[in-house]
Amino acid sequence: MPEFIPLETPIYMTATFQNPLPDGGPSLSDRGLDLKYSREENPTVRKLERLVAWLDGFEDGLAFSSGMAAISTLLLSRARKGVMVGVDAYSATISLALDLRDMGFRVRFVRIDEIVDSISRDYGLLLVETITNPMLRVPNLASISERCDELDVELAVDNTFASPVLLRPGGLANHSIQSATKYLAGHNDVIAGTLTSDELRDLWEWRRKLGTILDPFRSFMVIRGLHTLELRVRRQSETAMKVARFLQDCELVEWVTYPGLESHLDHPVARELFNGLYGGVITFIPKADPDKVLRNLSVVRPAPSLGAPRSLANRPWSSASSLPPDLVRYMGIREGVIRLSVGLEDPEVIIADVERALKAARSPSGEVPSLLAGDPHY
Ligand code: PLP
Repeated sequence: MPEFIPLETPIYMTATFQNPLPDGGPSLSDRGLDLKYSREENPTVRKLERLVAWLDGFEDGLAFSSGMAAISTLLLSRARKGVMVGVDAYSATISLALDLRDMGFRVRFVRIDEIVDSISRDYGLLLVETITNPMLRVPNLASISERCDELDVELAVDNTFASPVLLRPGGLANHSIQSATKYLAGHNDVIAGTLTSDELRDLWEWRRKLGTILDPFRSFMVIRGLHTLELRVRRQSETAMKVARFLQDCELVEWVTYPGLESHLDHPVARELFNGLYGGVITFIPKADPDKVLRNLSVVRPAPSLGAPRSLANRPWSSASSLPPDLVRYMGIREGVIRLSVGLEDPEVIIADVERALKAARSPSGEVPSLLAGDPHY
């Protein structure tokens, strides 16, 4: 009988493991690899990797120090064979791909509607987001996956916005990446990334060489978030649907996009691909200065990121400002766009806050009667 059974995951906060063991045998991780150094393998990190692999529908996973650590490890490992990247993607992903191109690697950017026709044997890997950041397009993953198979091109998806609650990429892609900073961890207090796949041998080596593994403490934090993943994403998706409908009907709004709206260009694809939920992020253009709208929000906080318990909003135009203006136009990001990540607040409270900010941004005085004035703790 064991002495005790912890129900939650112990944090193995150690850099090294004794290896060989006192009996002379090797210390092995559950992956069958030498357990000796936490830049390679660590039991707390392993627990997270197994859980996310199961959620994504793959055999195994790797945890990284950030979503960008997962993306950079993958892109660097495949750079020699050439990589194609869906151009409507997170700005740092695009920026990294541009750097790789400047370093002499073959990198091609493709628009979402042209992906299937652009896939070519000249490139070893295609990376696309399953709900794109920030314009919320949904690529036709079934057709893309089929074409990649035909041409023997590896397909990696960035499933950060959808999370495995909407879509389990196993069977459709070779690799699934997530910024675990967002929905997986879910509390806006940790930076982490994951990559799941059926074949990880070379990526494990690349992670070891680049030193991009996640640490045990943050692995524990992400594991803790996973307990409520389904509850949070369901609630945030249902709230986002209500907020999107409000924005669609609001005369203070010029344009809104959300994959759950029938008016969304890819709604039929999203309905087929996802499980009836459409995620917690909405993108819209107000009929007012977007910075003024952000300044007038009070429950919703002006901040980047998404998947937090608190609603957050930002201007993707500012995040993309480091990219060449031509490319930003090619990506389809318009200057007035606001990206809103709904949190776990009451949907009516979020809608009231957004409506008040939209009105205040249009009023000449720019009056800001804060809903939370006087509550320093919120
Ligand atoms: N992928 C997407 C779609 C993102 O939105 C982000 C960050 O916002 C990343 C990757 C990078 O993740 P991280 O910030 O954890 O490095």
